[in-house]
Amino acid sequence: MGNNKLVLPMKQPLSLPIRQPLYYGVSPKSTQDDPPYRPQIILASSYARGSFFIRPEQEKYIMFGLWLDKIKERLREGDPSAEVYSDLSSYSLDELTAAIKNGKNGIKKKHGTLKLWKGEEVVALGNMGQNILTARVKSKRWGGRNNVASRWLVEINFDEYGTGYPYIKCQSDEHFWDGVKGADMFCDHMGALLTCLKEVYNNPDAYKGAIRFEEHVKEPYMPFLINPMLEAEVIVKRYVLGQNYYDIDKWLLDKKEIYDPSYLDKIETGKVLYDAVHSKRTKAAKPTNSFTKGDILAPCKVASVMEKCIYKSGFRRVGLNAVEFRGTEWETLCANYEKGNKTLRLLISEQLPPLLIYRESNPADKTDIFYKLHEEEHPFSRPYQEQRTVDDRTRKITKTKIVIPYSPIPLREVPELNETVRPIIGNFKSRYAELIREHYDGDNEELLKKLGLKFS
Ligand SMILES: [Zn+2]
Repeated sequence: MGNNKLVLPMKQPLSLPIRQPLYYGVSPKSTQDDPPYRPQIILASSYARGSFFIRPEQEKYIMFGLWLDKIKERLREGDPSAEVYSDLSSYSLDELTAAIKNGKNGIKKKHGTLKLWKGEEVVALGNMGQNILTARVKSKRWGGRNNVASRWLVEINFDEYGTGYPYIKCQSDEHFWDGVKGADMFCDHMGALLTCLKEVYNNPDAYKGAIRFEEHVKEPYMPFLINPMLEAEVIVKRYVLGQNYYDIDKWLLDKKEIYDPSYLDKIETGKVLYDAVHSKRTKAAKPTNSFTKGDILAPCKVASVMEKCIYKSGFRRVGLNAVEFRGTEWETLCANYEKGNKTLRLLISEQLPPLLIYRESNPADKTDIFYKLHEEEHPFSRPYQEQRTVDDRTRKITKTKIVIPYSPIPLREVPELNETVRPIIGNFKSRYAELIREHYDGDNEELLKKLGLKFS
């Protein structure tokens, strides 16, 4: 008979043009001159999960035993960074490993199988030629119902200096769906394969010689080397605390000890950048008493109008997303536009009315890779003032200006912008005024007058 139920098209819910964070990683700067190009994004946590994947089960117990002792010690000492693990202070090793395997955020729940825990023969049929590494890497997921293959073909090409991966490919459907988001993602299978390569390189009998070396090759390059204690912590964050990839990588990339020193040089010299992937799912917004339909439509309209003006002025999208105000309550993923040494970021978030961040870089700019922002410095404390702040994408300390796209003071680089945005900014006017009154460091009445936001 079939299913005769008539499916009515759902009315498209209104959604805010807010970029929901999904992944955060490093990205080798493209050698292509003209954007747009597809960035490659490397997640440091993939090296940790990859190393964990190939680690024999017995070694995993030893690793978590050591980690649990260490975390209990940190808790006793009152280490504030250990506080997230306070629930584990009474755990035995058995309880911890049971939670990782079968708990509510555990491996079984997430992947439908314990293959990631068992770590048996993860890499097979590996072959390392002069510059190309191929292998079949075990799937992490249960394949029964979804017809998931049990092994994926993974290919990694090294450049001639052995310091990067000009081409990466994984057959898995996760890799495919991540690719749809606009980047070539470095995945956990690649992390597993490279960790295995390194071990077999140093000891040809390791992993039953899962990788064959065609000829003498240089030691394989790994931008990140994650020690077992950090590896255990990555796993606990994911499979016990249930944290998302974005937050885990943000935390991990703040640790200097995981970087190969030559990789830090590449960040320093601008050959490697930081980039973030956003979810294709947008945030649906429901009008409520305090949040009218107009409030939702305004940022959508403002965002698209602003983008058109930015393009018209010769700026082009580069990379996927830049993070502004990282680590603060105003942290936002922004589209990144560039024109020579000038950068524009369109900030659309739930916490703040639309803003533009303008940055200008200079060859003399210093780098601060492991920067921390002052939590108490509100974005509205110094609008229109020239500041020097760290650009999260390049980690360079650049000339920065926070611009209110409404004001009569136009931004020289996008002269038409403010005039175009003014008529549609609507309700945000009072929000700008309110935030300036609350947070501006200088004479706020004078600034409000200058910005045309003084209504009396
Ligand atoms: Zn993969």
